[in-house]
Amino acid sequence: MSAEPAQPDPVRHRDHGTWLVQFTGRILVVCPRCGGRALVAPRPGIEAPKYFSALLFQPRRLVCAGCGAVADWTAEERGRGLVGVVPGGTEDPFFRRPLWLQTRCAGRILWAYDEGHVDALAAYVGARLRERRASPTMAMFARLPAWMKSAERRDEVLAGLAALRALAGLSAPADRSDAAHERGDRPRHHGSVLFRGGPY
Ligand SMILES: [Zn+2]
Repeated sequence: MSAEPAQPDPVRHRDHGTWLVQFTGRILVVCPRCGGRALVAPRPGIEAPKYFSALLFQPRRLVCAGCGAVADWTAEERGRGLVGVVPGGTEDPFFRRPLWLQTRCAGRILWAYDEGHVDALAAYVGARLRERRASPTMAMFARLPAWMKSAERRDEVLAGLAALRALAGLSAPADRSDAAHERGDRPRHHGSVLFRGGPY
C-alpha cells in the first residue's frame, strides 16, 4: 500500500449554482495581501436585491479588517449586458480568492461561503429524515455531492462543518486552513447575462 495519501478532491458544486447564489452575499476569503480572513460583500450603499439571481451581478467589495486591504469588483460589461458570475468551486466567484472556510473531510475538500452557509449545510446533512417535498431550496440541497449526503459519512461531514464554523471565528494569517489555497476549480462556463432595461 502506498504511504502517500491521495490528493484531496475538491467538491465540485458546478451544478449547484442556483442554490449557491443565495449565499454569495457574504463570502469569507483569504486576503490577497496578508493571507488572513477577508470579507467579500455587496458594495456599501447598494440596495438589497429583489431576487437572489441579482446577487450574481451586484458590485462587490473585498475588505480585510486585519491589514486594511480593500478591492472592488464590478460585473464585466458585454454589449448592453452585464455578465454575472458562476458560483462554485473553492474560490469566491468575484475576486477568485481561495475561500477561508475550507477543510479536509472524507478525503475531499469541504468548503462554505460563510457561517450561514455552514449552518444550512449542517441542518441538511444532520437531518435524519429529509423532506421530500419539492421546495426549490430542498431540491437544490438534494444536488449536493453524494458523499456529503451518505449516512455513513454523516458524522464525518458534521465534524468537518464544525471545523468550518470554528474557522469562521478566526481571522489571523496564521489561522488560515492548510486546505485554503488556489485550486483553479471554479466553473469555466460563462455566467448569465443581465440586459439593462430588459424584462428581467
Ligand atoms: Zn489582509
